[in-house]
Amino acid sequence: MVERRLPSGLALIRTGNFPGLFPMRGLPHRAVIGIGGNVGDVVRRFERLLVSLRRDPFINVLSASPLLQNPPFGYTEQPDFINGVLLVETTLPPRALMRHLLRIERRFRRVRTFSNAPRTLDLDILFYDRRTLDYPDLTVPHPHWRERDSVVIPLSLLPGRTR
Ligand code: ADP
Ligand code: MG
Repeated sequence: MVERRLPSGLALIRTGNFPGLFPMRGLPHRAVIGIGGNVGDVVRRFERLLVSLRRDPFINVLSASPLLQNPPFGYTEQPDFINGVLLVETTLPPRALMRHLLRIERRFRRVRTFSNAPRTLDLDILFYDRRTLDYPDLTVPHPHWRERDSVVIPLSLLPGRTR
């Protein structure tokens, strides 16, 4: 694994599948999914996530960004976060995709958590096709994505990005 310092003190992490470009399956919709975590071996968990998504009938990963290590904001007495973005193609409409991602989060959430505990795996829908959605449980594009290094930097480094 090669790690590069960024001017701002953030760190880029490159590993087996991050960054990576993967074959198309021709599924009808495209989404950008933000991945994040700050508990345990997050990089290894992200690698396992990609392996598990290869067997997922509803989601196919087209490209994965390098990963960004970045300090927590808000409650700062917790470990740094590691974030990345995945460009995926999917058969699922937006809310079904959200439910599917929440199921995957639960599958990877092995560490015992308490109220406001740091996350083992957070999966957010940043973009879905080019749509704007405002449901009680799903806002797309994800609010505040433009202000977050954790989104903007990986997004700018996504191989083959179309945005
Ligand atoms: P956060 O991602 O803000 O740290 P959570 O992962 O706990 O917090 O998010 C909880 C809820 O946020 C989810 O149940 C989901 O319904 C809602 N939500 C709204 N819009 C989105 C989005 N674009 N991506 C992911 N979750 C979203
Ligand atoms: Mg989330």
